[in-house]
Amino acid sequence: MSALLLEVEGLTKHFAVTRGMAREKVFVRAVDGVDFAIARGETLGLVGESGCGKTTVGRLILRLIEPTGGAVRFDGRELTALDRKRLQPLRRSFQIIFQDPFASLNPRMTVSEIVGRPMEIHGLTRRAERDEKVGELLAAVGLRREQLARYPHEFSGGQRQRIGIARALATRPQLVVADEPTSALDVSVQAQILNLMKDLQGRFGLTYLFISHNIGVIRHISDRVAVMYLGKIVEMAGKGALFSKPLHPYTQALLAAVPSLDPRRRQEEVLLEGDVPSPVNPPPGCRFHTRCRFALPRCSREEPEFRPRADGRWVACHLY
Ligand code: SF4
Repeated sequence: MSALLLEVEGLTKHFAVTRGMAREKVFVRAVDGVDFAIARGETLGLVGESGCGKTTVGRLILRLIEPTGGAVRFDGRELTALDRKRLQPLRRSFQIIFQDPFASLNPRMTVSEIVGRPMEIHGLTRRAERDEKVGELLAAVGLRREQLARYPHEFSGGQRQRIGIARALATRPQLVVADEPTSALDVSVQAQILNLMKDLQGRFGLTYLFISHNIGVIRHISDRVAVMYLGKIVEMAGKGALFSKPLHPYTQALLAAVPSLDPRRRQEEVLLEGDVPSPVNPPPGCRFHTRCRFALPRCSREEPEFRPRADGRWVACHLY
């Protein structure tokens, strides 16, 4: 059994869109050649500004959308080569937790139906045993068995996300893609959900791809972190190394933008100015050169390779 549960190579997604009066067809290069791997039991945090392509990466891995190119190997099996029929039995092994727990739960279904339906679809329970199994899962996520017959609107935001987590765990998955699972929640509830996810990881032997724009959340939950900018990963490292000494200028800027509670560090330099360029027409060379304060003349011409360093970190930048 390989130590790696998920391997992603050259993953690409270009969406065709029409724009303007002339209805010109252009391609949004949402994900443009992404490489990473996740070991069993590990949490990889995927972080970047809104629109960088991180949510698309999560959906591509789960085959909720089809990639334009690249490979996704799950437990040694190439997922992108499988047709729908052969993919279906594998689907129980990878699940997703969505950002908005209210929008992702069917308001006309009870908790028992929401959490129990995936078990039935994958033949993991019979109707007669369903409530018993769902009740066990509700207890695991901090809800009560007596809440089985309730509907989503009867719960708070944090409780609804607990239902979303229970639904994701219903098929006993190995990999869970968590897409901004705490972004829609009050700050006071966010830490509870993160701690619950950590606890469940140990109990259920889960591997997480945790997607967020929030550096603080990524720091709390991740073992390793991949930083994404305009469809590409620009740096990937262990959490300690990345937060104590970020290498890529974009990572440095992202970390500097996090408000500090230390009064001596309140006057942070602003390292990141301007908007993210359009993924329809990404800048040539290094995509970050239009915002990088260290840009060299070659940066606008030559694209830096994403490659490993001797210390095991990966970075795409001409400075290294
Ligand atoms: Fe900045 Fe050049 Fe490095 Fe890109 S390659 S991050 S522009 S220094």
